Amino acid sequence: MSLMTKMSLEEVGGMLPPDSHVHSQWSWDALAGSMEKTCLRAAELGLPSVAFTEHADLTPWTLTPGEEVPEAWRPLVVDGVLTPPPLDLDGYRQCLERCRQRHPGLRILSGVELSEPHWHASRAAALLKAGDFERVLASVHSAPTAGGSGFTEVSGRYDDQPPDRVVRAYLAETARLIEQFEAFEVLAHIDYPVRYWPKDAKPYDPLDFEEEYRHVLRVLAATDKVLEVNTKVPLHPQVLAWWRQEGGQAITFASDAHEPTALARGFSDAAQLADASGFRPGRDPHGFWCRS
Ligand SMILES: [Zn+2]
Ligand SMILES: [Zn+2]
Repeated sequence: MSLMTKMSLEEVGGMLPPDSHVHSQWSWDALAGSMEKTCLRAAELGLPSVAFTEHADLTPWTLTPGEEVPEAWRPLVVDGVLTPPPLDLDGYRQCLERCRQRHPGLRILSGVELSEPHWHASRAAALLKAGDFERVLASVHSAPTAGGSGFTEVSGRYDDQPPDRVVRAYLAETARLIEQFEAFEVLAHIDYPVRYWPKDAKPYDPLDFEEEYRHVLRVLAATDKVLEVNTKVPLHPQVLAWWRQEGGQAITFASDAHEPTALARGFSDAAQLADASGFRPGRDPHGFWCRS
């Protein structure tokens, strides 16, 4: 039984959970990102805290022939391969410090979203050492290309594979990430490929992937890590129920905003869902929600 109503969450902005996964202009793909404007928006919403978890995309992507990318990314493409640029750690840190000084009432966490860190262990370790981040997310965004000679953004695999195979391969890779790489706290967007599920396919149903989801959740719980409730495509309540059943102890909330207006999107609904699924705010208002 939910203790919180939508009305109460909206009325008491301070009850909205922290946004633990936000991008700013320091993420190479956030073309409309702004750390300063995101902080202003956080103050407007009464968010207790925000984590700027900028992309460290370590895997280069082979573009399909004729694939167009935004003009700003064209310099990143050489011989049909897009290599995301490294995070500008100095610029990011200076900006973060300025924002902390300007917004003393907002808790601003430093962070990073490591893409496929298990494929790039030494680079990931070096970045974590240099960055000393407060919030470390790990995620999978890439998949091997059809020919196996390179990698593509996961969404690219729907062009040449049935959608259920794309999701199963994604979940298998996510389990390998957790098993092979330790230095992170939170698994980001376990259901990432669902964002690109083809409109003309049979509708996505998490029950079709129960075994695969449960396996990832079991491995995650065994390593005492945290599951993210991403609201870009709202996480299906069934996955959160499986997380609890498999022994999951904690969750974060994540807008995955790439522009200020998307901050904390859907958080009122997500908080109600989490509450109904047996998770509650912990003692630290800037921390994780915990199993109740
Ligand atoms: Zn991501
Ligand atoms: Zn992200």
